[in-house]
Amino acid sequence: MRVRTRFAPSPTGYLHIGGARTALFCWLFARHHQGDFILRIEDTDEVRSTHDSVDAILQSLSWLGLDWDEGPLLAEGTGDWKEKGEHGSYFQMKRTDHYKRYVRQLLDEKKAYPCYCAPEELELMRQKALAEKRLARYDGRCRELTAERRAALEAQGKKASVRFRMPDDGETIVPDGIRGAVTFDNKVLQDFVIQKTTGGPTYNFANVVDDHLMKITHVVRGDEHLSNTPYQIRLYQGLGFEPPRFAHLSMILGPDGTKLSKRHGATSVLEYRDQGFLPDTMRNYLALLGWSTPESQQLFTQEELIAKFGLEGCQKNPATFDNQKLLWMNGEYIRNAPVSRLIELAGPFLRKAGLPDRAEGTLAAAVKLEQEKAKLLSDLPGLVEFFFRDPSYDPKAVDKVLRAAGADKVLEELGPFLSAVEPFTDKPLEEAIRRFCETTGRKTGQVFHPIRVAVSGKTTGPTLFGMLELLGRETVLARLEGARRLLAHA
Ligand code: GLU
Repeated sequence: MRVRTRFAPSPTGYLHIGGARTALFCWLFARHHQGDFILRIEDTDEVRSTHDSVDAILQSLSWLGLDWDEGPLLAEGTGDWKEKGEHGSYFQMKRTDHYKRYVRQLLDEKKAYPCYCAPEELELMRQKALAEKRLARYDGRCRELTAERRAALEAQGKKASVRFRMPDDGETIVPDGIRGAVTFDNKVLQDFVIQKTTGGPTYNFANVVDDHLMKITHVVRGDEHLSNTPYQIRLYQGLGFEPPRFAHLSMILGPDGTKLSKRHGATSVLEYRDQGFLPDTMRNYLALLGWSTPESQQLFTQEELIAKFGLEGCQKNPATFDNQKLLWMNGEYIRNAPVSRLIELAGPFLRKAGLPDRAEGTLAAAVKLEQEKAKLLSDLPGLVEFFFRDPSYDPKAVDKVLRAAGADKVLEELGPFLSAVEPFTDKPLEEAIRRFCETTGRKTGQVFHPIRVAVSGKTTGPTLFGMLELLGRETVLARLEGARRLLAHA
């Protein structure tokens, strides 16, 4: 059996962390089994589905590096997506003929029936049940309508939805790859709508028809869908389809223990991109939201993730989203990334700051010096800026370091001294400056700190001597002078 998973978002907003985690798990599962990963757009909600959401979903998935084998292709701006794959269309609204055909089949086999109840009538039914402390569910009043009665209702202009007939007694068991068998008492389930009065399919119905027609073998999705699954399983049976395997991923909570939402900060994947997270970090971090290895490994290459991922490592308990850990992980990825990739990913941030964006020369060397410190790609412009422009002096650093007793003198004496260092590189600079400390009877701190602030404007930064080498003699001498002027004028 060739494994086929799908991610089936409803395009009613951006791709959020929960959706991205689902997509990632489906993708990992498919890649682990050398199967196919399918992207299907569930746009049956005519009111809330938007073009922009489809674009945002496609962009988010591509940014995360979750390539799909079948589905719509990213086509920026045109709003008309090409598709790839032999089971298309991958937009549900272009598949309505399929849904109609299967609704017909169920009606013909008397497994479904037209329901003429208006929304107000259903609401009354619900209120009455609540008042009588009964479970609010559809009471089946349209199940046995005679042909005459139906004709009469239609003659009155009543529009029918179509309901699927659920069993009255017994149980429906959902075999779940993470939770084991989950049993639902059929008494709490109800005949549910598969086709709306508008003629459009409902989520539960279109989802089942498509998973069948697209030959999906494993449905991996968030546990908010677990309550839909007994209905879907009954539909598979009613339609004579073999159900796929199911796995419901545990919920993601914010740090306060409530379901992750906007209240906890950024929830959209593209917001994380715009904040300066690497796609690699996000993949690694999201993989650990509800999945782990026996040895609790934290950092994975993509190949390792694919090789190690499996449903057996997925947990039933909710996972907690921890921003601090995400930030830590991003720092790790930045530290270990090749400079060229960092610069490529940081391109938008560098350009916005008016800095060079090509992985060469001073920029490449500066990023190499600074990558140790950066936690976000968006930190890089601020960290490397002083290699390209005169520093903007941090007033606190000026007060604390440059105005400290004797600092001005250090800068004054250092000028001629540094003019003579040959070559003006890391090691000779270190030796020379240490010698300067010794011969003038100063502690290293009294010398190192003022130089650092004078050339970079701040108290923190990469290794002092590497930084001086990269700035070059001329710039260093000019900045020492500049700092002295600043002190003289203020
Ligand atoms: N369209 C559904 C959603 O976005 C998909 C659920 C499923 O994967 O079956 O939540």
